[in-house]
Amino acid sequence: MATTVYDVRPGRRVVAVTHPSFPAPGATDIALSVRTHDRAGVRRVDEDWLERTWPEPSSRIVPIAGTRFPVDDAGESVRWHAADELPGTGKRLFLGLREDVPHFALLLEQRADGPEEGGVGEGRWTTLREVVASLLEPDAGFMVHAVALAEWHGSHRFCPRCGGRLHDTGAGHVLVCEQCRRQQFPRSDPAVIMMVTDGDRALLGRQDSWPEGRYSTLAGFVDPGESLEEAVVREVAEETGVQVTDVTYFGNQPWPFPQSLMVGFFARAVTTEIEVDGAEISDARWFTREDMKAGAQAGTLVLPGGISISRSLVEAWYGEPLPGSW
Ligand SMILES: [Zn+2]
Repeated sequence: MATTVYDVRPGRRVVAVTHPSFPAPGATDIALSVRTHDRAGVRRVDEDWLERTWPEPSSRIVPIAGTRFPVDDAGESVRWHAADELPGTGKRLFLGLREDVPHFALLLEQRADGPEEGGVGEGRWTTLREVVASLLEPDAGFMVHAVALAEWHGSHRFCPRCGGRLHDTGAGHVLVCEQCRRQQFPRSDPAVIMMVTDGDRALLGRQDSWPEGRYSTLAGFVDPGESLEEAVVREVAEETGVQVTDVTYFGNQPWPFPQSLMVGFFARAVTTEIEVDGAEISDARWFTREDMKAGAQAGTLVLPGGISISRSLVEAWYGEPLPGSW
C-alpha cells in the first residue's frame, strides 16, 4: 500500500514521491510489550501492607540470585514460592498484582557456589536471556520487571554523588543515600530501532561479528538531549549514509539486558546510496520483498528472532510471517 505525496521541504524541488503507508502503532503484537500486572505503585510505600502480605501463603515470590531464577524444565513458567520456602534475608521487591494476587521477587544474597546450593528450591535456574523466547505470559512480563530491578540493584551499590551507602525503599524501586539522602530510581535507556524503506525496498544491516547471512534493522542509543526522531535520522545516517524522513512510531519493547527500552520506528529514505560506517555496521543492503522472502527461505538471509521488536518491524512491513530466524 502506498500513496503519492509531494516533497515540499525548503530548499528542495517539489517532486512527487511514493510514500508508503506504514503499519499503525498497535497493529502488531510485540513480545514483552504486554501489560501483565497492575504495578500498584501505592503499595510500594505501604509498609504495613507489604509486611502483612509477604508471608501470606497466597503471595507468589520468585527468588533471584544475581539475575538467575528458577523455571520449569521447559523454560515456560517461573517456579513461584511462598515466603516460608525462602530464606529470611535478601531484598524484597514488590512487582504488583495479577487478579489481586500479590507477586514479589526476593533478591538473594549471592553465593559463589550458585543458587541451587543456597538452600532455595530444586530444579532449573536460568537467566531471562536464556528463556526469553520460551517463557509464557504473564510470567515473562513479571520477569522483565523483576530482572530489570535485579540488574539495577546489582549495578548500583553506592551513591553516585557522594559514594555513600544506599538504603533501599519503595519495595525495591528507590535507593536512598544514607549520607546525602539523594534518591535514585530504576532507569531505562532508550534506544531507537528502525525499518528504513524506499518504496518497496527495506534497508537492513549487519555487524562484522555476526554469522554469515544475518541481517537486522538498524538501531542505536538515544544521545543526551536528543529526541527519538532525531536519533533515528542520525543513527541511520551515521551507520549507512542514508538520509531519512517521515519517522513514524511503531511500538516499543522493554529489553532489560541490562536496562534498554527499544523504541521502534519506520522511516522513509530520501537518499538511497549506502556508505556503511565500517565500525558498527559492516554491510547494509536494500531488500525488496521478493529478495527478503527468497533469502529467508533459502537461508541466505537470516532475520532476527521472533521475540525481538526487530522481527516485528520486518514482518509488519512485509505483511506476513517470514521463515527462519537467529
Ligand atoms: Zn550520597
